[in-house]
Amino acid sequence: MSTAPLDFTLSAGPTMATPRTLAALGSPIVYHYDPEFIATFHRAEEKAAKVFKTTNDIVLMQGEAIVGLEAAARAMTRPGMKVLNLAQGVFGKGMGYWLTSFGAELHEIEVPYNEAVSPQAVEEYLQQNPGIELVTAVHSETPSGTVTDCSKIGPIAAKYGAMTLIDAVSSIGGLEFETDEWQIDVVVTGAQKCLGGPPGIALLAISDRAWERILDNPNSPRDSYVSLVDWKLKWKQNEAFPYTPSVSDVHGVESVLDQVLEEGLEQAIARHAAAARATRAGVRAMGLELWAASDEIAADCVTSVRLPDSVDHVEARTHIRNNYGVMLSSGQGAGNLLRLAHMGPSARGMYPIVGLAAMGQGLRDLGMQVDIGAGIDAALTEIAATRQAAAV
Ligand SMILES: *Cc1c(COP(=O)(O)O)cnc(C)c1O
Repeated sequence: MSTAPLDFTLSAGPTMATPRTLAALGSPIVYHYDPEFIATFHRAEEKAAKVFKTTNDIVLMQGEAIVGLEAAARAMTRPGMKVLNLAQGVFGKGMGYWLTSFGAELHEIEVPYNEAVSPQAVEEYLQQNPGIELVTAVHSETPSGTVTDCSKIGPIAAKYGAMTLIDAVSSIGGLEFETDEWQIDVVVTGAQKCLGGPPGIALLAISDRAWERILDNPNSPRDSYVSLVDWKLKWKQNEAFPYTPSVSDVHGVESVLDQVLEEGLEQAIARHAAAARATRAGVRAMGLELWAASDEIAADCVTSVRLPDSVDHVEARTHIRNNYGVMLSSGQGAGNLLRLAHMGPSARGMYPIVGLAAMGQGLRDLGMQVDIGAGIDAALTEIAATRQAAAV
């Protein structure tokens, strides 16, 4: 197989990176206690706080976003503690398995993986089950292409005295997320989704309340690669790294934060929404079925398309890549579906058309009836409407 880069990576992360990001990743590797690098690290934290919309502490952990999620879940739970986990997809369900293995008393609201847990269901559950200390949720369930309403769930949890731990890995930088306004205690993201950065750093925002809980918790990991306590006591209080940060990735992360802040966070969010609108319109007009139960809960960073039993999602992904040079994502455990991502650089310009065209013809090759022309028409109409609205 050819090792040449693909023409188009429209997968649900890692995404394409801009030339500016690639250049930043190629900047000189410096000693991590070089004052230049210390300054870079602080700047990256400050810029991340702006993108998280928070005044809370930012922690940049070296490793993929999962390291941040595991660190936060371990630090926030004790054996016997009541935790309410919202499961509307693969990542939410996985959090529940973790919480159980860390000894929490797991309470779970689970819905089919094309639906979203409603804030009302969370409120009712907390009302009927006093003593829940933590609510865990995934803001954007990437394999399903659905979102849950954290703007309501955050304040509801706070009202019942529970803290919140939110997986916002595929939303920060592309979907609206107001950490402080929504009263979210711990948020975790990665750089390789809507920010279009390298898949090597987890970014966390941690409230003062959450730090108190973490530092008081005897079960919170200490002297460990997944220790948030170490980051607080060593780095935040003494400017000593718990371990050597991935210098190149920090350069890449600072660059993608710069890019989103220069564009304007609101504008980046609007751009993801526009790409999603065009994609959904195209999918429908092709005669294909969207996976998300309603547009209201469809994520603006990735559009999931339901496949019939006769077409296997992994086979379709491979066929589309090999024949049209476009990398899409398959269902990754959520179901028999294909995903067209619009994340970071791919939430721009004609990329939705590229994804739709390759998917449409690929599915036709595999025996499905697809009206490609109608889909492209519909998506182009949306793209033009967005540009015209922006021009006035
Ligand atoms: C990408 C992603 C992660 C990180 O998980 P990987 O399996 O390592 O990609 C976690 N949560 C969500 C919602 C994600 O989209």
